[in-house]
Amino acid sequence: MDSAKVGSCVDWVARAGALRLEARNLVDGRSLTGEGARVLHKSSPRDGHELYSFAAGSPRDVESAVAAARRAFVDGRWSQLPAHGRSEVLYRIGTLLAEHAEEFALLESLDTGKPIRDAVAFDVPKASATFRFSAAAGDKLAGQVYGADARSLSYQSRRPLGVVGGIIGWNFPLVLAAEKIAPALAMGNSLVLKPSELTSLSAARLAQLALEAGVPEGVFNVIHGSPEVGAALARHQDVDMITFTGSSRTGKLLMVAAGESNMKRLLLECGGKAPNIVFDDAPDLAAVADGIVGRAFWNQGQVCTASSRLLVQEDIKDELLRLVIERASVLHPGDPLKEQTTFGALVSTGHREKVLGYVASGEHEGARAIYRANTPDPLPGGFYVAPVIFDEVSVTHRIAQEEIFGPVLSLLTFRDEEEAARIANSTIYGLSAILWTRDLGRAHRVSQAIDAGWIVVNATASPTGGPGSGILSIGGHKQSGIGVEGGVEGLKAYTRESAIQIFV
Ligand code: NAD
Repeated sequence: MDSAKVGSCVDWVARAGALRLEARNLVDGRSLTGEGARVLHKSSPRDGHELYSFAAGSPRDVESAVAAARRAFVDGRWSQLPAHGRSEVLYRIGTLLAEHAEEFALLESLDTGKPIRDAVAFDVPKASATFRFSAAAGDKLAGQVYGADARSLSYQSRRPLGVVGGIIGWNFPLVLAAEKIAPALAMGNSLVLKPSELTSLSAARLAQLALEAGVPEGVFNVIHGSPEVGAALARHQDVDMITFTGSSRTGKLLMVAAGESNMKRLLLECGGKAPNIVFDDAPDLAAVADGIVGRAFWNQGQVCTASSRLLVQEDIKDELLRLVIERASVLHPGDPLKEQTTFGALVSTGHREKVLGYVASGEHEGARAIYRANTPDPLPGGFYVAPVIFDEVSVTHRIAQEEIFGPVLSLLTFRDEEEAARIANSTIYGLSAILWTRDLGRAHRVSQAIDAGWIVVNATASPTGGPGSGILSIGGHKQSGIGVEGGVEGLKAYTRESAIQIFV
């Protein structure tokens, strides 16, 4: 048992040094080196040094993995198990994850640059809970009988899709992997997972745990590598569904690939540009400021639902801005492996450049960087960017329109409800939104007016948790995605229905 606890004075740097960091594929239960020509080198977000390298997977690896997944699906070793049998195995994965919490938290922090305390407190428990939810709910979905008499039976049944391809991004690698594996397997499918080339470690280790928990060989396969691997999965004629978490740009390419191959199903969880809307009747501005900072800068702003736009009613702007800056000013980039660190590094040097490019574009387009922390990086060579807050942002600025996916908050003002909703809806995204008001009628009206898949009224400072957490089914509107993830609807997404009429 190595269940981790923050505050237990663990020397995480020493423990990280003792870990084996590898990204091997898993195909048909065998651990294999990728067959691609390229070796991918992963740099540590902490200090820029090489963390590990691996031979990238290739389209041939995808061929073998899909063939193994198909064989496993057809012979029924998993797909025809009684649902409660699958649930037992998935529950064991959740338990094993919790038992290896410290190791997974370290892999996650090393790969992404996120603070170890967040990986301990959020990523590992959330991934474990995702397996447990699918285990608990997966064997309770029933078909429906529409009519049954002595001469006929008419019913609707639900069955797995077959082979599912999972393609995921890098901001919460373990959680995103769990959100694909757990529901797909609970519903009886086989899966080929392609993690982000920037974060391969936790998925590689999770694949070993899945075997240990009793997932039969071939049912869950992992191929590491570049977008080429994802593209091969997306164009494969024998993949029935792609479940994806990543950018809207890639999501659109997957739609083309599905359309040009076998019309496979798509579940797309894509980007966002969430508004955080504060009305002048908001309860307790200090708590609101906590919520704004917590939800804009958590995970260094690399969150699809990060509230990267702050929309404030004109008359409370000065007071709220003062409180927000006061709270943001305690966030300095720190060594992700130190337990007291609450704000870590960005995932890669390329992503750091992209975020800094947005900061430059904000200044260039006329917004005013009203706050920017100016502290030295905790370690030389790491991919650190301190929080930046822009005032005087116009709706048309790139920093108000595009997903930055970094610690940059753009402030805009509005006069009334109608203008707030108009600004909130002014991007191509519709993933999530937060609003703050004491007026229940206003909360209801504005929630109805905002085009987003997840709306929170009077949020807490913690971006996670709350009633319904893990059970709500959430999916993006507009270019934030297609379909929902989580909850019972999220399980159903991995099935297809047949209507059956029998006359005797
Ligand atoms: P990305 O789209 O660049 O990459 C995601 C995955 O797709 C990676 O594994 C990548 O290798 C693969 N890929 C890239 N091009 C491909 C192609 N042409 N064909 C097939 N696969 C391809 O996204 P990212 O930068 O890794 O992740 C950040 C994005 O993820 C942000 O936009 C963020 O909002 C989004 N995200 C969304 C959610 C959500 O639930 N909606 C959650 C987390 C992250």
